[in-house]
Amino acid sequence: MKRVLLIIAAVMLCCCLSMSGRKRDVKFSNAGTAYIERSFSTYDVLQKQIHSFAELGYMEYRSSGLLASHLESNGFRVEMGVAGIPTAFVATFGSGSPVIGLLAEYDALPGMSQDTVAYKKALKDGAPGHGCGHNLLGTGSVAGAVAISKWLAEGHQGTVVLFGCPAEEGGGGKAYMAREGCFDGVDAILDWHPDICNLVNVESGLANVQMRFTFHGVSSHASSAPEKGRSALDAVEAFNFMMNMMREHVPDGTRIHYVITDGGKAPNVVPDRAEVLYYLRNRSRAVVQDLKERAIKAAEGAAMGTGTTVEFEAVSGNFERLYNESLAQVLQRNLETVGGVEYDAREMAFAEEMLEASGINDKSVLKKPSMVLPLGADYPTLKGVSSDVGNVTWVAPTASFRAATFVPAGLGHCWQFTSSGGTTIGTKGVMNVAKVMFFTAYDLYNSPETVAKVKAEFDERRGNDFVFVPLIGDRKPPLDYRK
Ligand SMILES: [Zn+2]
Repeated sequence: MKRVLLIIAAVMLCCCLSMSGRKRDVKFSNAGTAYIERSFSTYDVLQKQIHSFAELGYMEYRSSGLLASHLESNGFRVEMGVAGIPTAFVATFGSGSPVIGLLAEYDALPGMSQDTVAYKKALKDGAPGHGCGHNLLGTGSVAGAVAISKWLAEGHQGTVVLFGCPAEEGGGGKAYMAREGCFDGVDAILDWHPDICNLVNVESGLANVQMRFTFHGVSSHASSAPEKGRSALDAVEAFNFMMNMMREHVPDGTRIHYVITDGGKAPNVVPDRAEVLYYLRNRSRAVVQDLKERAIKAAEGAAMGTGTTVEFEAVSGNFERLYNESLAQVLQRNLETVGGVEYDAREMAFAEEMLEASGINDKSVLKKPSMVLPLGADYPTLKGVSSDVGNVTWVAPTASFRAATFVPAGLGHCWQFTSSGGTTIGTKGVMNVAKVMFFTAYDLYNSPETVAKVKAEFDERRGNDFVFVPLIGDRKPPLDYRK
């Protein structure tokens, strides 16, 4: 009897082992992974095309069109122009739950034009460029979404939704998409951003609001009739003075920065129009909301004291990120499985030349792209940044990761990132991202318990009485904010 039991136990153990082995094999060898393995050149071409378009926020017609038509040709249903934004879109594949969302961005930065060479060389002086790697961000998420769709198409239940999100750089596209309910009903959202190494983002970052203040005065000859003039630039200066005084009396960790975007045209003409653009940031959006109210009062005071009038608007507003550890853990596991990026000899020579051109002697930094940091590793640069992804994290459970796509020779929004992101170094990162997203989605589709845990944590962290009140209010998307 004992022997029979032993044999039964041994057989059961073998069955379990082979089942887990088979499950493991299926995850790593199926239509989704096969698609990623054979698609390097497809996405190499795609990311380089968007790199060359380098379109600014809300003007990404060619970039969004290219990604949307690629998704459509892979069987996705595409709705273009969502949330009143022509370059925002939602692409859906599959049916039923769970619904997994992926975020894509594709806007460039002004003045960042750069050729894909190892030294600083603008393609066109002053023109936009992909200094933040959003050519890769959009392409990586799209590659992940198509890989997921290939697996779903084998007869698995679930839905994948790719969100085409414009104008992350200052235009806050996702704030408007969140306000219009685009992300409602999504069970889990996966997000990533290009970087110099690989890690899951556990930082809340900073909530922020971008405010434009425009003062109107009375123009006159600055020398022959100064008494008739009321200077709008005076109002900007008085306002800035008060804001600089305010720095002493704000909660710790607050950031206040501004640029004067219109200060008049000539010293001998009293300016009848002047404009200043502010960013107000803090870890808490409640503090940001308070800073905004105080800034408005200061602007009104400045207008009153200078005999001018003021108009203001919140151009964009972003929540701090709501963390979801249950989802972050699944991402971390898969990021570790996929690993980092290894350069081939040609890419290594390019990277070394770029280091030299950047005045960096320590070649050991080139190991960073191959590393995956542990969950919760300190990564100071993520503490001080704001993103419109923050808004999304409060309307659907979201987890974000960073993937190595750049030569570590710069510090963000730099020529080194623009350049290396437009080469195969960037594409290698993109294909890793596609794998991480596919494996994570695979795990969620195959584990209703994990999805339930992710959603329960989201509800608990957000609180029962949470209502999404956008920092942008009810204003229309600022489609012309770059003009
Ligand atoms: Zn970015």
